[in-house]
Amino acid sequence: MQIAAVVKCSFIDYPGKIAAVVFTPGCNLRCFLCHNRALIDADSVTCSTTEEEVQAWLETRQGLLDAVVISGGEPTIQPGLPEFIEDVHALRYFVKLDTNGTRPNVLAKLINAGLLDCVAMDIKAPAEKYDAICGSPVDQSAIDESIALLLSGRVDYEFRTTIIPQLTREDILEIGNRIRGACAYVLQLYRAIQSAEALNNPCWTSASHPPSWLEDVQQRLAQMVKICLTRGFDINPIPATHAH
Ligand code: SF4
Repeated sequence: MQIAAVVKCSFIDYPGKIAAVVFTPGCNLRCFLCHNRALIDADSVTCSTTEEEVQAWLETRQGLLDAVVISGGEPTIQPGLPEFIEDVHALRYFVKLDTNGTRPNVLAKLINAGLLDCVAMDIKAPAEKYDAICGSPVDQSAIDESIALLLSGRVDYEFRTTIIPQLTREDILEIGNRIRGACAYVLQLYRAIQSAEALNNPCWTSASHPPSWLEDVQQRLAQMVKICLTRGFDINPIPATHAH
């Protein structure tokens, strides 16, 4: 598996666990909101860290770190992903996968093989806005397949959406309906990107929703999913009351 970068200690990437984060190069989407834009084009990423180096380093962190988060880019496009996870598990770390959910077959194989302890799947937009926000055509049946896999409950998971200004209240509620009954849905703060790519994207804007908008959306979502959280916002999360 190719490794673009490693963050050696994170308290925020795996809920409740101290984790290292391994970033893989390359992504099959081109989201204008991407904060890991430098990783999108695998050919332009220098991968100077090897799997063996990461594993040797993880051996020295046993007892200090709980978990390894594999993020990207889109890790499921990496052919060596299952083998890398097996090696990390052999070192007795929990493994969480961050994915855009476009490759349900890979996700299913990993889950069926018992290789994942947790999955975070981004839901970028309601179906009709996906392509514009992701900068490429996205097979919505693949997204639905990945959603169904996670909803089946065979692995801990969270769905998450970055709350960009282009998403309306109705958009977010449509997503909530799509993942109805989910264990956890996280609304993430969007930090406007000032890159040339973002500024030139027709979707780009630096506007943001006011806190009252977010609170209202969160309360409505709490009727659709078991827990609805916010992440990164300057408001107190609403306790996760819910109807299910
Ligand atoms: S799916 Fe994630 S890594 Fe890929 S372009 Fe979109 S935000 Fe970036």
